[in-house]
Amino acid sequence: ARPIVAIVGRPNVGKSTIFNRIIGDRLAIVEDKPGITRDRIYGTAEWNNIAFSIIDTGGIEIDDEDFILKSIRAQAELAIEEADAIVFMVDAKAGLTPADQEVAELLFRSRKPVIVAVNKVDNIQRQEDVYEFYSLGFGTPIGISGSHGLGIGDLLDTVVENL
Ligand code: GDP
Ligand code: MG
Repeated sequence: ARPIVAIVGRPNVGKSTIFNRIIGDRLAIVEDKPGITRDRIYGTAEWNNIAFSIIDTGGIEIDDEDFILKSIRAQAELAIEEADAIVFMVDAKAGLTPADQEVAELLFRSRKPVIVAVNKVDNIQRQEDVYEFYSLGFGTPIGISGSHGLGIGDLLDTVVENL
């Protein structure tokens, strides 16, 4: 079976934007999984001749503090269980948050490869916002911009190297 990549992170960091870019630009088929959500959560993609499935874990997000934390934890656990590699997405504009640190702890224990993608690095001036995310402990964070389509190739290079 193809390897599975999961995108995990707080609501609003840009997971679905990146997911759509990855499956939209490089890809092939979106599996039809009726009943899970209205969102397209599962997709397939190919990069450097490596085919993989990709999961956008944030299909259901309700704006309630308690629920958000529970749902992020559930997402992270799902990703840990199913995925061969995890894209942990954070937000350069928001900076590092306690919820990011909580997710990091869960992911750290999984011992799966985790690639930190710092989204909303919309221009070169923002590149410096990436550095604080080194402290999450997963190596070099990769600055990307889902809305401007920047850094996605670098991110995918790193993802497939870890499959
Ligand atoms: P999700 O909740 O993590 O799936 O995030 P979404 O993909 O739904 O995006 C949340 C918001 O962030 C939307 O308003 C997007 O337009 C915005 N967004 C996504 N990517 C970027 C980016 O690279 N830069 C900026 N400035 N905004 C972005
Ligand atoms: Mg989403």
